[in-house]
Amino acid sequence: MPANTPTTPPRVLTIAGSDSGGGAGIQADLKTMLALGAHGMSVLTAVTAQNSLGVQGAWELPAEAVRAQYRSVVDDIGVQAVKTGMLASPLLVETVAELLSDVGAPVVVDPVSVSKHGDRLLADDALDAVRTALLPLATVATPNLDETAELTGIKATGERDMCRAAEQLLSYGPRWVLVKGGHLPGEAVDLLTDGTEQHWFRAPRHDNRHTHGTGCTLASAIAVGLAQGRAVPEAVRLAKEYVTGAIAAGFALGAGLGPVDHGW
Ligand code: PLP
Repeated sequence: MPANTPTTPPRVLTIAGSDSGGGAGIQADLKTMLALGAHGMSVLTAVTAQNSLGVQGAWELPAEAVRAQYRSVVDDIGVQAVKTGMLASPLLVETVAELLSDVGAPVVVDPVSVSKHGDRLLADDALDAVRTALLPLATVATPNLDETAELTGIKATGERDMCRAAEQLLSYGPRWVLVKGGHLPGEAVDLLTDGTEQHWFRAPRHDNRHTHGTGCTLASAIAVGLAQGRAVPEAVRLAKEYVTGAIAAGFALGAGLGPVDHGW
């Protein structure tokens, strides 16, 4: 008898780092997946000692541990979508790219490089591996403007630059790219494109500084939509709705920046 019954939820895997404060990383991913009705699974790449004030320490896991977690999950349970987040080093970027090369499921790549507090979550010398090994495997890549600038050299300050940067990102090989303009003043504007279609997503800016975990949450919500069989533009639209609600409900925690809320 097959292991999956009609009530088995979509299975979604996050390959990412742990945020001990529970706001971003694996913790945000699993909360998002639960809130949206998916079964979330995790391959841990790194452990961070982290709270509302920033990242106090980070330790990368051995590549062998990443491989073993991945094989355990994929060989038995199977995945209908994958999301990648903090990958820390060139070795882990290459290891994850090798694992995903035959995954046969949509892959959302959130090319996490620096936290909102300015802590580095990806080594500088890993950018090349992200461009050449990981991005070609992405169904959707979801860089914010800082990550876009690191990957393309284009520091976008408006919608025209976002188009130019998106084109360059597409040249690295992802099927779709979502350039997140949330750090620009005014409305939060994101551009989704596959080189043919262009979708602009606009959301009112919430006057709320408790937005820790926004990027992880958005990428995970997109992965859930793809696992449910939605087309990329629809998965992104629904994920934006989800993250906009989560930002509006973000709450204070500790002495610094609180997290988005998954229980809204
Ligand atoms: N910590 C981990 C493990 C993350 O994966 C991320 C973002 O992806 C962050 C921290 C940073 O989150 P934020 O920039 O929303 O504060």
